[in-house]
Amino acid sequence: MRIADKNATRAILERHGFTFKKSFGQNFLTDTNILQKIVDTAEIDKNVNVIEIGPGIGALTEFLAENAAEVMAFEIDDRLVPILADTLRDFDNVQVINEDILKTDLQTRIKDFANPDLPIKVVANLPYYITTPILMHLIESKIPFAEFVVMMQKEVADRISAKPNTKAYGSLSIAVQYYMTAKVAFIVPRTVFVPAPNVDSAILKMTRREQALVEVEDVDFFFRVSKAAFVHRRKTLWNNLTSHFGKSEEIKAKLETALEAAELKPSVRGEALSISEFGKLADALLAAGIK
Ligand code: SAM
Repeated sequence: MRIADKNATRAILERHGFTFKKSFGQNFLTDTNILQKIVDTAEIDKNVNVIEIGPGIGALTEFLAENAAEVMAFEIDDRLVPILADTLRDFDNVQVINEDILKTDLQTRIKDFANPDLPIKVVANLPYYITTPILMHLIESKIPFAEFVVMMQKEVADRISAKPNTKAYGSLSIAVQYYMTAKVAFIVPRTVFVPAPNVDSAILKMTRREQALVEVEDVDFFFRVSKAAFVHRRKTLWNNLTSHFGKSEEIKAKLETALEAAELKPSVRGEALSISEFGKLADALLAAGIK
């Protein structure tokens, strides 16, 4: 029987007297078909190392360990460590690391893979309360992950994969899509978890681009500009830029020059700009002396 089998999960939880901690976002998967679909979507084989965030009692870890070269699983809840030692005892290619993923030095950790040169994929059913910080932490680690295949709230998956001129499009879409393509692979109903969360989930597949979507002078500044443009969604780009950079006549003149150079109308809204247009805008602002 699989760990994720409903009866097996119940027996494991009972045997170890485990109680769910809401503050850790603990919703465990109990559907083996969905787990198989996740592994298929991630295209995992023995030439791939996997990082998992939040193994829980090992439902997904079991599927990953069977298919991948090695699995490194980061779990914050120390009560789960002895449970994982029990449920995953048959595998010698799993390392469970009892650490908060947001505080882990991943660059150092990944050197502990037996074969650190294999491509690394991140596959996880993420704790929903910190989905965005985790993704940003992974992206900013500068580790060249080949792919992320992760479960999250459907609404967040929609925001990350959103295209311009949609309600869901925003600085999060830009932050991720700058480095990766992002596509919802499939939707997961709330009924397949214990306990059931309040919302439906989605598996989002993010694949690293060969090169970033646009060449920009200063990536951090580019992200700052794209964030600033969405601070007040209903305001124009001009209003958001003056709120962020200042309203003096000197700054306004520079902003006008930059918008003209980037071929953008001041009355446009941030949500209408493609990622390339944001890149153009950021470079034009720098060229006009705005920083
Ligand atoms: N992978 C399991 C499954 O699919 O059944 C559990 C997924 S559950 C949604 C999220 C897991 O992430 C929990 O086991 C929780 O304890 C763990 N977790 C929460 N915050 C974490 C953090 N900051 N670092 C590492 N693990 C975390």
